Amino acid sequence: MTSPIKRIVIAGGGTAGWMTAAAITKLMGKNLEVVLVESDQIGSVGVGEATIPTLHIFHRLLGLKEQDVMAATNATFKLGINFENWHDKGKDYLHSFGFLGKDCWACGFGHFWLKGKQLGMAKDIGDYCTEHLAARQGRFAVLPNQDANHAYHMDATLYAQFLRQMAQKLGLKRIEGKISDVIQHDHNGHIKALTLDNGEHIEGDLFIDCTGFRALLIEQTLNTGFEDWSHYLPCDSAIAVQTKSVGEQPAYTRSIAHESGWQWRIPLQTRTGNGLVFCSKFLSDEDASALLLKNIKGEVLNQPRVIKFKTGTRRQHWNKNCVAIGLSSGFLEPLESTSIHLIQRSIIRLLQLFPSNGIKASDVNEFNQQTLLEMDNIRDFIILHYKVTEREDSRFWRYCKNMEIPASLKHRIDMFGDSGKVYKYGSELFGESSWVQVMMGQGITPKSYHPIVDMMPEPELEAFLGNIKTNVKRKVDSLPLHLDFIKHYCPSS
Ligand code: FAD
Repeated sequence: MTSPIKRIVIAGGGTAGWMTAAAITKLMGKNLEVVLVESDQIGSVGVGEATIPTLHIFHRLLGLKEQDVMAATNATFKLGINFENWHDKGKDYLHSFGFLGKDCWACGFGHFWLKGKQLGMAKDIGDYCTEHLAARQGRFAVLPNQDANHAYHMDATLYAQFLRQMAQKLGLKRIEGKISDVIQHDHNGHIKALTLDNGEHIEGDLFIDCTGFRALLIEQTLNTGFEDWSHYLPCDSAIAVQTKSVGEQPAYTRSIAHESGWQWRIPLQTRTGNGLVFCSKFLSDEDASALLLKNIKGEVLNQPRVIKFKTGTRRQHWNKNCVAIGLSSGFLEPLESTSIHLIQRSIIRLLQLFPSNGIKASDVNEFNQQTLLEMDNIRDFIILHYKVTEREDSRFWRYCKNMEIPASLKHRIDMFGDSGKVYKYGSELFGESSWVQVMMGQGITPKSYHPIVDMMPEPELEAFLGNIKTNVKRKVDSLPLHLDFIKHYCPSS
């Protein structure tokens, strides 16, 4: 065990650094000194604009009002992701954040829907989910006393600035400078201090590595090790470019598959974030850039920027007195917009296991086990989109269709294909509605449904399905248009 933690040093001020800084100063700042070092010269990765609904939990913890965050970040609402050309060219499906229909004690709604579909009583599964239909129709409103199954498209740079202002108001000390060296204690290898370019030493008891892909502390200093997942997720590059909005702002992210990867389109209030994710084995940076520029609409606002990445995870996310949060901890491509969620999960986990009285191996092990499990689950969900496809029109898609996948994912695919059942691992991020939407969207039709459905007489099944569909439609019809609601909800934006 180490001595009590009194001073925390956060290295790096991208989204991860400022989310961590805001949370620690807000929730534990009275008992701790918190310092953040960042370098304007290096800057941040500057992407990361699509989120998922769990961000509400973080904002609630920080006492942030949704309207204030949205106004500060040029945000729109997001109800899901539309996957185009993934199952096959010309086919699309929406993975919405809502829950499908109603479950019964024995099985999920998907089983009732499957039988209804076989009998010709049910149509699109999205008709049974409010968020799904609302996304398709461009309608949305935040209603009192309702679950917040919505997320945001937002400007990541503005989000970091917003959190920075908050953290600094709460007493966080920001130090501008480039970290040139990391000094370790001789006796145990723990980090003692960061040395800046100007010679200044910044000492601390606990160090949070938020230095992005550089992983300056956790890897370059502590050599923690990296588990490479690029054989499962072969995309290794992205090109990002922003365009002026041309008035197409659906309440969902668009993910459009191309021959060697996919393209995102993320609509903010006044601009659109665009990017092409691709595998450099099959597409050069130049061709990727040309493809992206060909596919986008509206005035281009910045030079296209190539970002290289390796998919995988740090073997330990907490090593000695260093916790890696954000890109320094590993990377899963942004297909399901999970990175900011993982940042928030690591922050909350650190606060739950906070080593006020000194670092204990049991806390470190718990943190690492939980983080790895969480990353494994999300990794499987992302691989699913590539593996289950009918596309064979390029070397990239033939590779994905035929690649080996983790046994955990194979089990889930087999189980769903055989019987429509979805196996859930504890409190994992993606629930049954998400797995069902993506597995069916990618083209799996289960061979059977749960036998309990046959206990319901057919006229009752028809009424059950019909009532849900009518209620969903009635609710969505009563909602305002998404953009009209934003004008009314956060007028200062
Ligand atoms: P960075 O933003 O890179 O910040 C690193 C910080 O460390 C900077 O402040 C830098 O100045 C500092 N630093 C580094 N070295 C030094 C040094 N020597 N001295 C001083 N300071 C230093 N996530 C989502 O949730 N949704 C998305 O839609 C999404 N899209 C993405 C698209 C792409 C192509 C990529 C690559 C990522 C995407 N992400 C997305 C992930 C998201 O961008 C990151 O999780 C998030 O931005 C956090 O990054 P970070 O703060 O860890 O790193």
